[in-house]
Amino acid sequence: MSVTVVTGSASGIGAAIRDQLLAAGQRVIGIDRQNADIVADLASAEGRKAAVDAVLEACGGKLDGLVCCAGLGPTAPSSSLIVSVNYFGMSELVDGLAPALERGTKPAVLLIGSVASVHQGMDKLPMVGAMLANDEAGARTQADAMAMPQAAYAGSKYAITVYARKKAVELGPKGIRLNVLAPGAVETPLLDASRADARYGEAIRNFVAPIGRNSAPDEIANVACFLQSAQASFVHGTVVFVDGGMDAMTRPERF
Ligand code: NAD
Repeated sequence: MSVTVVTGSASGIGAAIRDQLLAAGQRVIGIDRQNADIVADLASAEGRKAAVDAVLEACGGKLDGLVCCAGLGPTAPSSSLIVSVNYFGMSELVDGLAPALERGTKPAVLLIGSVASVHQGMDKLPMVGAMLANDEAGARTQADAMAMPQAAYAGSKYAITVYARKKAVELGPKGIRLNVLAPGAVETPLLDASRADARYGEAIRNFVAPIGRNSAPDEIANVACFLQSAQASFVHGTVVFVDGGMDAMTRPERF
């Protein structure tokens, strides 16, 4: 039986992916702050190490899949928290679990990015440089100094996408596939909180994808499960937008 770790398994997209993998007969090890097989706080280095250790014990050191969904939106309590969870809560799980994945069967990793990662100027942000240099303290300081949670969100999603594309080159020869799924607006508690926020709510409500509606979590999970499956055996190092056309609308000449 295939064994897949899903972070953020208690809610939204992660819960939908967990349910679909279970329905397909896989074993799922869910990680979240609550209501999960492994309860861990991915915001801290200690919490991430505890999560990796617990996974290694639960899977006996051999893992077939990893899907990193746990993330915070721009309404999170601080920009530094967004950086820690959205970037280091994914990169350190990939780094920590890569040896176990190498021992797995047709192993595959999927990171949930965002269409927000394509916002212009993300590559110039000092916090992004610090994330990519694996400097969590520096990235947190830069993020809080900027005091723009929306930029911390988009910057963390841009940085984790760059991390993934570089990591894919390293993991390919080890037989591990790695991709990024970039959703548009998905009906989850994270989107509810952003829509209700006095700072961002109106812009989010007005920004409608060409397809004319937001996604259900299952529509994201459908693509996530395909990317993790043997049917996607040659899909590696890529970013798949599942966004109802948002990326096409905002930058039709870039792909
Ligand atoms: P959600 O709030 O429903 O689920 C996120 C989950 O992550 C929650 O269960 C939460 O407890 C968990 N989590 C947060 N911080 C954590 C921590 N420190 N340690 C462990 N777990 C933690 O949100 P969602 O919309 O399902 O988001 C899932 C992913 O999809 C996120 O990475 C988000 O950035 C991304 N995304 C969402 C949307 C959207 O519109 N909903 C769009 C693009 C990308």
